[in-house]
Amino acid sequence: MIVLKTRRELELMREAGRISAQALKLAGEAVAPGVTTAEIDKVAFDYIKSQGATPSFLNYNGFPATACISINKEVIHGIPDRHHIIREGDIVSIDLGAVYEGFHGDNAYTFACGKISPAAERLCNTTREALYEGLKKAVAGNRLGDIGHAVEQYCVSRGYGVVREYTGHGVGKHLHEDPSVPNYGTPGKGVRLIPGMTIAIEPMINEGTEDVRVLKNGWTVVTADGRLSAHFEHTVAITDGECVILTLPDR
Ligand code: MG
Repeated sequence: MIVLKTRRELELMREAGRISAQALKLAGEAVAPGVTTAEIDKVAFDYIKSQGATPSFLNYNGFPATACISINKEVIHGIPDRHHIIREGDIVSIDLGAVYEGFHGDNAYTFACGKISPAAERLCNTTREALYEGLKKAVAGNRLGDIGHAVEQYCVSRGYGVVREYTGHGVGKHLHEDPSVPNYGTPGKGVRLIPGMTIAIEPMINEGTEDVRVLKNGWTVVTADGRLSAHFEHTVAITDGECVILTLPDR
């Protein structure tokens, strides 16, 4: 069931989104050679708590941390670890959310640690741009297939694999609500977008094959071929005009 949000609820979601985005920004600023993923997680945790909010992912289905931190071939759901040291040249995908006054924000960004390879840079740029191609289609009257198709086309035409086993989703009182928002689709097909819907659009794009597998820890998703993966996400509200990005940091 898709839950539409009232104007008041959208205000709360904007604040949840701001906290999520600022936590993500601060976590990204902490990415540097020699830093552990657990240290980055703590930066996000501390900020979210300082705002009177709660990390959305912590204890979600048993997830043990504030942020999912996925490096290089890791696609999503990497678990922060005090033994995992980030190195120069890594690409570091951080995905996190915050719940404030009962509403969630959810966002992700792939950060570069120092100087990264041209191939890694191209993958990150393409994935970020694909998110914005999707956002352009997130307009009332369009359908979910329009968003998915835009993301898919943008990436496949550049030679990348679009992860199909994991998708974006509705967001609100629950971190994951209906509908699911795939990064592929057929224009004009799928659920029609209407004002008051709030969804997370989150392309997960692989340098090589779209195929992924889950590590033995039961969480971390990696590319099947061991090549790089990038991930960008915003939570947005559907309106009659351009969508409103709810996950914007402090200026
Ligand atoms: Mg999400």
